[in-house]
Amino acid sequence: MTMWRTLADKIRPGKKAMNILITGGAGFIGAHLANRLHRQGHHVRVVDDLSSGDPSRLPSDIFFRRGDVRDVPNLWALLHDVDVVYHLAAKVSVPASILYPREYNDVNVGGTVALLEACRDVGVGRVILASSATVYGDQQRQPVDEEARCRPGVPYAVSKLAAEQYLFTMGRLSGFETVALRIFNAYGPGQPLPPSHAPIIPYAMRQIVQGGSVIVFGDGRQSRDFVYIDDVVDALVAAATASQVDQTIINVGSGRSTSINQLVELIGATVGRRPNLLHNREKSGGIHQLVADIRKAEQLLGYHPRVTLEQGLRRLLKEDPLFRDSGRPSSRDPLSTQPATDAPNQ
Ligand code: NAD
Repeated sequence: MTMWRTLADKIRPGKKAMNILITGGAGFIGAHLANRLHRQGHHVRVVDDLSSGDPSRLPSDIFFRRGDVRDVPNLWALLHDVDVVYHLAAKVSVPASILYPREYNDVNVGGTVALLEACRDVGVGRVILASSATVYGDQQRQPVDEEARCRPGVPYAVSKLAAEQYLFTMGRLSGFETVALRIFNAYGPGQPLPPSHAPIIPYAMRQIVQGGSVIVFGDGRQSRDFVYIDDVVDALVAAATASQVDQTIINVGSGRSTSINQLVELIGATVGRRPNLLHNREKSGGIHQLVADIRKAEQLLGYHPRVTLEQGLRRLLKEDPLFRDSGRPSSRDPLSTQPATDAPNQ
């Protein structure tokens, strides 16, 4: 008898509720995903070391364990009878990865290998990796599709590409299904606003709400694909049960390109204040352009982004407490003055 059960055994037709483990499930994307899956009636377990996550974002009846994704014995227990694993635990700052590449390698690559080893030992149906569009690096042809030759330009991107390779290799060798979703620039309520190298959307919105300046690296003409968190969660949820996705890479974006200058103007219009936009041209704005070709996600996942950038920004302003009480710093806003941000960083 094989020691592994196939996904077909584990996600049986008619067996609606699945056992799901989310690593990094107390983080921004992880908590939104956990909440959605929980609402759908699945049995969700979360492991997170809380290096940046917050367990209060999770409903109290979700099983939460504080732990490091590199702790294999801990994972053995958590993986018992699990159908689908979402691997989101990672260090996520591009600039920090340039300063601390060893740490990024340890957590993002080492953590993925440890998880995959534990999945092999225990036997799971499918592992879904939250990979990143940064693996593409600079690409002439836009929108970028999954066949593009990757040119990772920073350690964070290298770590995500290595994680993908381990995912597919270990899945092939061990008999579980694997999917890597290359997520573009996700945004929405609950996105962390760290004291340095903050993602552009919460940083710019907070600055504009408070009447401060928005400092952008480069000339602000670099463009990105901003995708609302609910759309990202749609893709992640669909990846759990979609057929014909084994060993597949799938882009998750909005399919629309927006320059940082346009974005800041749009945030200003959402807030109802003219932004004071300053450019720091001594610093690079990063990759010139990165926009997703989402045809594969449409075909394989039935994915159709539903939230426009205008709608998403309005919802962010309304729903995220960070922008409601603009005068006071919160636990997600450890400094009341914000240094310059660079281009969106994941
Ligand atoms: P996040 O920082 O909010 O979430 C990451 C979570 O992982 C945090 O809760 C953190 O505490 C946890 N974590 C970190 N190291 C850990 C470890 N060693 N053991 C256990 N838990 C650990 O970031 P996010 O934006 O929610 O990103 C989630 C995933 O999606 C990451 O893998 C990231 O690379 C990927 N991603 C995010 C974006 C985006 O735009 N937000 C884009 C592309 C890819």
